[in-house]
Amino acid sequence: MIDATSKALFHSLAQIDLLRRLASRYGMRPGGFARRFIAGESVEEALAAVADLPARQLRLTLDYLGESVGSFAEASEATAEYLRIIEAIVQSGVERNISLKLTQLGLDVDRATAVDNMRRILDVADEHGFFVRIDMENSPYTDRTLQVLETLWQQGHRSVGTVIQSCLVRSPQDVRRLTALGARVRLVKGAYKEPKAVAFQDKAQVDAAFIELMRELLDHGHFPAIATHDPDMIQATQKYASERGYAPDRFEFQMLYGIRRDLQTSLVDQGYGVRVYVPYGKQWFPYFMRRLGERPANVAFVIKGIFGEA
Ligand SMILES: Cc1cc2nc3c(=O)[nH]c(=O)nc-3n(C[C@H](O)[C@H](O)[C@H](O)COP(=O)(O)OP(=O)(O)OC[C@H]3O[C@@H](n4cnc5c(N)ncnc54)[C@H](O)[C@@H]3O)c2cc1C
Repeated sequence: MIDATSKALFHSLAQIDLLRRLASRYGMRPGGFARRFIAGESVEEALAAVADLPARQLRLTLDYLGESVGSFAEASEATAEYLRIIEAIVQSGVERNISLKLTQLGLDVDRATAVDNMRRILDVADEHGFFVRIDMENSPYTDRTLQVLETLWQQGHRSVGTVIQSCLVRSPQDVRRLTALGARVRLVKGAYKEPKAVAFQDKAQVDAAFIELMRELLDHGHFPAIATHDPDMIQATQKYASERGYAPDRFEFQMLYGIRRDLQTSLVDQGYGVRVYVPYGKQWFPYFMRRLGERPANVAFVIKGIFGEA
């Protein structure tokens, strides 16, 4: 169960550079503990790791890990890497869908840099029929992320969507804003530690908000993505869709690479679309710590990975 305490703990641990360097030594070696959640350190490794997904009728979105860059050069490098990903995906023949973060593209440097880099990526992505998802980072970035999306939309880009976090109190109005725009929304609970002033802290409130937003998106959204590993949220979505007579292709479920693979398969067997979020790259520590924050029981993997079988 996600709770604010474990999120806060792993958020603080993620700031410890010694821990990051220690984890980097063990985490991604062959059979390393981080490979449960991270598909590789290069796009080639990642594509090899997910080569069997299409045969299992699982869709994918590829994410090059990285966030909070502080310079034009780093933002430009990340943009160049996304252009390489697009090329690699086109060559490999897998589905054309990527996810990215605006702080990886320079949003912390300035907004214009992030918009320029997004446009460089979308110009090529649109040419090859890609869909691009802008991940949602923590709440100080929510407004700017929605504004960047609207700017790109005004400039004619339509194959770009973003994410709404049910933990944020503001999310119902943001869902209406994006639905009115016509943009595709991925609905999640929210992976970041957020202050009481802007976010529900209690799981029951986060879940209740998730269900409300799911209904709103299934009714008025544009091919919404219901992104959760929570069986209760999945059943609520299936129940609501059947009550409303919505066909399974009106939306899709999404899950993270390496999490609840059993659920991924059973939903596909039931005729639902399931997309797997496939992260790769060297900057994997913050993403990894968020996964531990969501389910501290995952720490067992780390310990086994470092010290071998008990
Ligand atoms: C495709 C996708 C994209 C996402 N994009 C974003 C984003 O852009 N911004 C953002 O803030 N968050 C994002 N998230 C993360 C999301 O906000 C949640 O933090 C995460 O999905 C865990 O919540 P849950 O809905 O699975 O429910 P929870 O209530 O946390 O978990 C329900 C059950 O799922 C299983 N589970 C959940 N997490 C884990 C885990 N880490 N390891 C093992 N089992 C687990 C457990 O069995 C748990 O009991 C994304 C999640 C997905 C699936």
